[in-house]
Order: sequence, then C-alpha cells, then structure tokens
Amino acid sequence: MVTTSSKTLLIYTGGTIGMLEDAATGSLIPLNFSELEKYIPELMRFSKSMDVVAFEKPIDSSDVNIQTWVSIAEIIEKNYDQYSGFVVLHGTDTMAYSASALSFMLQNLTKPVIFTGSQLPIGRLRTDGKENLITAIEIAGARRNGEPVIQEVAVLFESKLLRGNRTHKYSTENFDAFDSPNYDELAEIGIHIIYSHQRLLRNNSKELKVLKEFDNRVGILKLFPGMSPAFVQSILTSPQLKAIVFETYGSGNAPKEGWLVEALRSAIERGLVILNITQCSKGFVEQGLYDTSAALQRIGVIGGADMTTEAALTKLMFLLGQNYSGDTLKEKLTTPMAGELTTFSSLGV
Ligand code: ASP
Repeated sequence: MVTTSSKTLLIYTGGTIGMLEDAATGSLIPLNFSELEKYIPELMRFSKSMDVVAFEKPIDSSDVNIQTWVSIAEIIEKNYDQYSGFVVLHGTDTMAYSASALSFMLQNLTKPVIFTGSQLPIGRLRTDGKENLITAIEIAGARRNGEPVIQEVAVLFESKLLRGNRTHKYSTENFDAFDSPNYDELAEIGIHIIYSHQRLLRNNSKELKVLKEFDNRVGILKLFPGMSPAFVQSILTSPQLKAIVFETYGSGNAPKEGWLVEALRSAIERGLVILNITQCSKGFVEQGLYDTSAALQRIGVIGGADMTTEAALTKLMFLLGQNYSGDTLKEKLTTPMAGELTTFSSLGV
C-alpha cells in the first residue's frame, strides 16, 4: 500500500511553469513565486508538508549551465536530512540534461528527486503546470513499507513518471512532452498512480554523496551523408577538446570512407574519447554488427549502448570532471551508474 506522509522541498529554478502572460504585450513574464498559491490554491493543502526554495533569479532553462546543476545539487545536499523528497520545477527545454546530470551527481540517492515543469504557463487557464506540480508533490511524498517509493531522479510529465536520465523532450506542442524510448515508465499517472516497482532503482549504500565537478571540454558530432572532411577535422582538432559524443546511424554505423576512419583513429591516438550513440531514438549501438561499424570498434570508439544524447553528454562531462581516463573511463561509460543504459547481459542476450 502506497501512502503519503512526509515533507517535501520544492525547488523553483524557472521555466514556463512559473510565468504569467503580460496582458498588454502577451509576452511571458516570470511569476513571483510567493504568489504561486494564488494560482494553485490546492497547494494550501500541502502547506504543512511542503517548503519552497526559489532561485533568486529564475531562469529559462536555455540558460542552464554547470553552475545551475551545482546549485540544485547543493540545495538538495543541504536539506537532505530534513526532507523526505524533492520536487524541482524546471523549464522543459533542457530538463533532460539537468535530470541526467543530477542523477550522476547525487550518488547513493535514497529519496525522490522529481523534475517537472509545464508547456503552458501557470497563469493560463488550460495550464498543465498545476496538475504536473500537484502530481509531482504527491509522488515525492509517496511511501511504501516506510520507505520512499521513488529513490532516484525522475521526470514527471502529464501521464508518465520517467527515469530522468532516460528522458528526451520530443514535443514542443504536446502536454506529454517527454519520452523515454529505451526504458519503460516508472509509473503511469491516471486515476491512480500505478508504480512499476520492478523498474525502480535502489541503492545499497545509504550515505548521500554529492559530486559537483564537471568538465565541459566535450562536444557532439552528428553524422550526415556528405559530411566534409574539413568539418570533421575542425571538430576533432578543436583545441582542448577531451571527448565527443559521436551520433551515428542505426546501430552505430558510419561511412567506411578511409578519411573518416583515419581522422577518428588519429584523434583517439591523440587521446580524444569518442562515445558512439545512435541517432535513432530507440535501440542500441552495437559496434561490429555491420561492416560499417567494425572499423569504429577496431580503432577504439566506445559503444554507448542505448544512452540518450543528453545522458551520454552529461555522463562524459561528469566522469571527466572526476578525472577518469583510459580504461577506467571506458569501463564507467559502458556500465550503468544510475540506470542510464541497458547492458546486453541484463537482457540475457
Ligand atoms: N523555454 C522554456 C524553458 O525551458 C520552456 C519551458 O519551460 O517549457 O525554460
């Protein structure tokens, strides 16, 4: 039986959910968060079980950077013992990156960290923000056998609770804006909130550890037919670059053309880390399955399995920030740290 009896901390960072439409100009203006209860009177019901911390200057999530992740993580770290769960209100545009980054930073998490936001501002009659916020608070407070039901970083949007580092914003239009193509929902939201308990993450160690270092000397190289050698070279020889997410076709395939393999090989030899992620939203990179990926495997490109680009990029930034390199880095990249990738062995393949 799932019950709700706990105290939640709401962390407001910005985004559409906290905006009102300026009546004169029609443009969106940030809402003074203390006024939130005026727009969501239902929140009064949570007044004894919820506190709010707001960023001094709320931001559109396009302005999110490493410091934003550190700020969110520090609020959670500082308040970890006082609260049984956390809800992060965040713009949708980069929510998948932030949820991924936080999932790596918050090690040994045993409490819920639920990201949510909205497609329509809270001041609009048809806003989805109200329902998302109330559901996120309910999920953050859900307990079973005396323990939080969710003990990981998740994204709640419309009718789905998803593992944060598996998400991708796929729609600018739908209320169901997020997708988790390679990992099924943690919970389905309808009349009841139906949790899939077997899919939920559990940590053995109970001691929260927050790691805050990231290295942004990374990039993304997305393949397309007809790509020029000059462009590839300019990326691979970019000064100080340490690693790239290489977005390839299908199950990790790239043209067999000599110049490309040679450019990648010499970059790897110089120490560049290349992590192969598929451009398909669903499925795995499986280097060596086709002739067109065998060379990548041979020269030391690392297969990124079924990670999203958001998870792959933030994981690279995080692991480089912890100073991992060489075989240890490779091992960490190909092993799940917070449920962000599926291994063939876990599928029994
Ligand atoms: N541009 C907004 C943001 O990501 C969109 C949103 O909140 O949905 O902050």
